[in-house]
Amino acid sequence: MSSGWQKSSKWVFSFSQGKAEGNAQEKDSLGGKGANLAEMCNLGLPVPPGFTISTHVCEYYNANQGHYPEYLKPQVKDAMSALEKSMASKFGDKDNPLLVSVRSGAAVSMPGMMDTVLNLGLNDKTVLGLAKRSGDERFAYDSYRRFIQMYGDVVMGVPHNLFEEALKEKKKKIGTKEDSHISAREWQEIIKEYRDLIKTATGKDFPQDPLNQLWGGIDAVFGSWMGRRAITYRHLHGISDELGTAVNVQSMVFGNRGETSATGVLFTRSPVDGARKLYGEYLINAQGEDVVSGNRTPENIADVKNGQPVINQHIPEIYGQILETANQLESHYRDMQDVEFTVESGKLWLLQTRAGNRTIAAAIQVAVDMCEEGLITKEEALLRIDPNSLDQLLHPTIDYKNTQVALTTGLPASPGAATGVIVFSPDEAETRADNGEDVILVREATSPEDIHGMHSARGILTASGGMTSHAAVVARGMGRPCVCGASELVVKESKNFFRIGDTTFRVGDIITIDGTTGNVFAGAIGMVQPKLTKAFEKYLNWADQLSTLVVRANADTPEDCKTALKFKARGIGLCRTEHMFFAPERLSLMRQMILAETATARLEAIKKIQPIQHQDFKEIFEIMAGHPITIRLLDPPLHEFLPRNKQEIEKVSKESGLSVAVIKHRIAQLHEENPMLGHRGCRLGISYPEIYEMQVRAMLEAALEVAAKKASAPMLEIMVPFVANVSEIAFWRERIEAVAKETLKGKAKINYQIGTMIELPRACITAYEIAPEVDFFSFGTNDLTQTTIGLSRDDTSEMLSDYLTSGLISKDPFQSIDQRGVGALVNMAVELGREVVPDLKCGVCGEHGGDPDSIDFFHRAGLNYISCSPYRIPVARLAAAQAAIRNRNL
Ligand code: ADP
Ligand code: MG
Ligand code: MG
Repeated sequence: MSSGWQKSSKWVFSFSQGKAEGNAQEKDSLGGKGANLAEMCNLGLPVPPGFTISTHVCEYYNANQGHYPEYLKPQVKDAMSALEKSMASKFGDKDNPLLVSVRSGAAVSMPGMMDTVLNLGLNDKTVLGLAKRSGDERFAYDSYRRFIQMYGDVVMGVPHNLFEEALKEKKKKIGTKEDSHISAREWQEIIKEYRDLIKTATGKDFPQDPLNQLWGGIDAVFGSWMGRRAITYRHLHGISDELGTAVNVQSMVFGNRGETSATGVLFTRSPVDGARKLYGEYLINAQGEDVVSGNRTPENIADVKNGQPVINQHIPEIYGQILETANQLESHYRDMQDVEFTVESGKLWLLQTRAGNRTIAAAIQVAVDMCEEGLITKEEALLRIDPNSLDQLLHPTIDYKNTQVALTTGLPASPGAATGVIVFSPDEAETRADNGEDVILVREATSPEDIHGMHSARGILTASGGMTSHAAVVARGMGRPCVCGASELVVKESKNFFRIGDTTFRVGDIITIDGTTGNVFAGAIGMVQPKLTKAFEKYLNWADQLSTLVVRANADTPEDCKTALKFKARGIGLCRTEHMFFAPERLSLMRQMILAETATARLEAIKKIQPIQHQDFKEIFEIMAGHPITIRLLDPPLHEFLPRNKQEIEKVSKESGLSVAVIKHRIAQLHEENPMLGHRGCRLGISYPEIYEMQVRAMLEAALEVAAKKASAPMLEIMVPFVANVSEIAFWRERIEAVAKETLKGKAKINYQIGTMIELPRACITAYEIAPEVDFFSFGTNDLTQTTIGLSRDDTSEMLSDYLTSGLISKDPFQSIDQRGVGALVNMAVELGREVVPDLKCGVCGEHGGDPDSIDFFHRAGLNYISCSPYRIPVARLAAAQAAIRNRNL
């Protein structure tokens, strides 16, 4: 940051009703609180006058060992004089004293900063003036004791509970629990006790000189910026230490002036569900933080059920004023506000306003309502919500109001919460789920062979692995809550238990996991179910109207397809066929095919697989009728299908009739050191063309069957994976067309296209050769990232976290696309491809399709569609709209 204090010599900015030297735009120098106080003054709202000392003073103070810039003191003095004038009173005057609050306030609201001191300027003499002026001695001494207590605590460092204990003792003696029963005399006695307390604790007298009090308060605010609490908070939240805080000095108004005075806080709409009704609380005859302190129970400003203005019972007609002010603030700020106010003897004063924190459900409701009220545009409404936060709405969440402490905390790998019985094997997960049980699959880590178990489980818990581990990626894709890397877990899969500390959990025990926070709980925990509101639908429909990127889903199963349509995916961008081969009876046929020693034996196995594949496609096509669907031909390296241990080998031997020795020999033959760069994708297809041919035949026949019944089949996009060289795709184009010709001869017309996955740098570089051979490119950015950076996604999660913590990279390239590197290749392929085929359809599949930053990049790259897991669709729809709006505004 540039050093503002070197340039500016104006340190102090006054505000009073009707005019202020600052405004809401100047949060950087006035802090959020000061900037909005100025703004409210400019609006003519009733704000007690005061002034703000700029954040640049804080910057100076920290850079100069606690010294202030020249001219600060005279500027504060001038501002005080002006304040005295407008308040027609004098700071330190024994007859008519000016009293102020000293309030901290940085650009971003931040716990850890100095608490507010109220009633500053009171001492043994001025308290008499306050008593005389107000005609209320009790009130004057109540104000004085509050001041000593706050100043003693926040400026002089005397623990506040010492004051509270002293007060409690006194109340016991008097025989009351209510502050309001304490007389002026008794407050005076308490004041004496407080001052003794301060003297004992600090060795210092409570300062009587108001100017000393004022500078004590100002020093304490600036000093608190570099306090441990504030520094820790900033570092946790990535806030710069250089920003600094402002100090607000503001004339006092008194909510503790009796039965028609009050202090309160309000939201202009419900922060819970966004409903358009005032939502707030107040305390009669109270001051400052009494409402939030919890010492007394505040009342609702209006009845929560019928909206009746409760506060009017105490202060006639105040509700109307409050409501009008709230509306005025909303229509000015064009957002829901969180307001702090005080009523002094029936008159309303505003002490703070800011955009109110709200749940994501409330955020959507407010954005939709405000747009329909004409307060904001659709574009603004759509830009207001962080797409990632929509995720919270799509999964059940833990009811943290009534929740015990977590057993342990791992990584929040896939959001949502789930309760179920613990199982350790994927097969058992499947059996139990089929019997209607909710299960949590607990593993040391998961692998592709566990997919069916993960699918059956309500949630997944692993002891090792990071945010991009297999468990995490697959769980996010499936929309299953997942906690991974819970390293305190000692998992004994084969023995069916895990241990955490001294406690053992066995198969069948119930646990709850929260993939949003990473928490793991023993037993069942209360949940709140997600409700998709009308506002949610409307909001996302607006998003679709404004985006140019079409959002599709990655979906492999009929269930995924249904979810995709529920969230309004406009097609399937990636249907992976390998998942169709992992179910046990299919895996066995697959293994027979791979292990076959002759082409005849291989064809035999394939013939048995084809009807199963046909059935898979048929179900999916029925659901997706009329939509485009990209089907990727078999991709994974062969080894993923091979038997791994003795039992499996024996089983395969029995099923296939091959001897154990032969199988072992084949396994050795097929072994690859580096399977991800080995015999996979179209390479596999080229070695064993029968596999792809069978798949193409199965999908075309299924499409014919669906078309006959439904009058519309889906638009098939047949995708050939892992192409590096135009010759590979040319080879496959010819084969696919031949199979199609033969299969469709004399039958109905089926719309199909042939495309390739672009996931190797060489394919990007030679995109101009590949483009004429295909109808579409689909960027497989997971593999493109692995092969561009030379980084294995499955092996590097620990290494990546080292890179992230040491700041060598700022984001995991598997979560958010590396725009400068991998992205450059995407841009290149799109440009080179469209140079020769101008209307080449380009899309992306893979995890990046659900990441908002990556989506912004894909929009700029000119892609036609993105594809992501079904549960990410709402996120992607909003991110796509934001990308369109932002880039149009540039
Ligand atoms: P925080 O940042 O912790 O909310 P504030 O500076 O907003 O602290 O002060 C807390 C409360 O103190 C305010 O909500 C208001 O009720 C009270 N307060 C602050 N300044 C004044 C003032 N000049 N007159 C009356 N009450 C005040
Ligand atoms: Mg507060
Ligand atoms: Mg406040």
